[in-house]
Amino acid sequence: MDATHDNPPATGGFQLDHIHGGEGERDLRQAIWRGWRRRCPACGTGPMMNGFLKVRDTCTVCGEELHHHRADDGPAYLTILVVGHLMAPLLGAAFMIYRPDPMVLSAVFAIGTVAASLWLLPRFKGLMVGFQWAKRMHGFAPDLADDAHNPA
Ligand SMILES: [Zn+2]
Repeated sequence: MDATHDNPPATGGFQLDHIHGGEGERDLRQAIWRGWRRRCPACGTGPMMNGFLKVRDTCTVCGEELHHHRADDGPAYLTILVVGHLMAPLLGAAFMIYRPDPMVLSAVFAIGTVAASLWLLPRFKGLMVGFQWAKRMHGFAPDLADDAHNPA
C-alpha cells in the first residue's frame, strides 16, 4: 500500500505541506486570484499587505514567507497600461457624446484616473506576488531562498 504521497502523516490536523503547495506544482490561477484579492497566495486567508502596498514579510495565518517577492515597478506598469488604455478612449467618447465643459471633463477624468489607479495598484501587486510565488521565482524557490538573502 503506497499512500504516503497522497496522504502525508497528519501533523495535528494541519498539513502545512498541502497549504504551502508542497514541493510540487503550485496552482497558478489560484495564486493569482488570491493575490488579486490581496490574500496570501499560499493559504488564501491571511492578508498579504500591511497597509496599502507593503507586502508582509510572512503570512500572519500560515507563516508563508512573502518577503521574497520582486514586484518592483511591475504593478505600476500594469496599472498605467490598463488605466491608460481605459481612460484614453473613454475621454474621447465622453467628449464626442456629451461635449462637456472642459473643466468638468478634466475634473471627472482626473479623479477617475486617480481612483482607478489607486484601486488597481495593490491588486496588481498582489497578482504579481502571487504569480512569482506560484512560479517559485526569486526567493520563493525553497532551495534558493537562503542563497538569495545570505550570499556567501
Ligand atoms: Zn498564508
